Amino acid sequence: MRKQIAAGNWKMNLSAQEAQSLASEVVNMAKDEYQGDAEVIFGVPYPYLSLVQHITKDHPNMHLAAQNLHQADKGAYTGEVSATMLTSIGVTHVIIGHSERREYQGENNDLLADKIDKALENGLVPIYCFGEKLEEREGGNTLRVIEEQVSEGSFHLDAANFSKCILAYEPVWAIGTGKTASPEQAQEVHAFIRKLITDKYGAEVAEGTTILYGGSVKPANANDLFAQPDIDGGLVGGASLKSRDFTEILKAL
Ligand code: PEP
Repeated sequence: MRKQIAAGNWKMNLSAQEAQSLASEVVNMAKDEYQGDAEVIFGVPYPYLSLVQHITKDHPNMHLAAQNLHQADKGAYTGEVSATMLTSIGVTHVIIGHSERREYQGENNDLLADKIDKALENGLVPIYCFGEKLEEREGGNTLRVIEEQVSEGSFHLDAANFSKCILAYEPVWAIGTGKTASPEQAQEVHAFIRKLITDKYGAEVAEGTTILYGGSVKPANANDLFAQPDIDGGLVGGASLKSRDFTEILKAL
């Protein structure tokens, strides 16, 4: 079902104490200042997932995401984390295919499709990320790249499983750079993604799919982005590390 979501991606930041304080502050501010029914998702480094789970567990609209998972069930994969490990500590969502993992860990669409399968098999909601690089946009290839990433990573799913996924369009040139896609640029791509989903799965599935925008979302631009008809919320990096900013972004939904 289509939802409105403010998802934070903390990346490789914060001490345990800072993580606890940040989560508690957001929970308290949201409780006092936000009456809507949008969901909050905290994308937390592995070591802090349990700490944050204790803070969010009594709040039905607040969820916990890992930033990655391994595609195998278990075994000799030193340093990796499986889907069942995540669910066993109360994790409900997992970010898959963030551009930093595509870039630094060489993750490609085929591997990401396997990770999405593993997440779904274990009842985790995948937040599947994709987006074009600057040279791809400048070369006029944005929509072609998006189509490739979306279809290769997620269109192997049947409609029932696809409907469980959250998508996140994150233009790489806007991540952590302070350069946000304009609301019109973001809307153009979101509408295109929804059309791809319509063509593949039909209008009902497309209308029900939550598509987040990510890339330098801040309190100052959240209202205009979220006012676009096909933008259902944000995947937020830098601004999710500041409780006040993240809460203001939530309130923009
Ligand atoms: C992200 O990492 O998903 C992201 C969108 O980062 P930022 O908001 O800092 O651009």
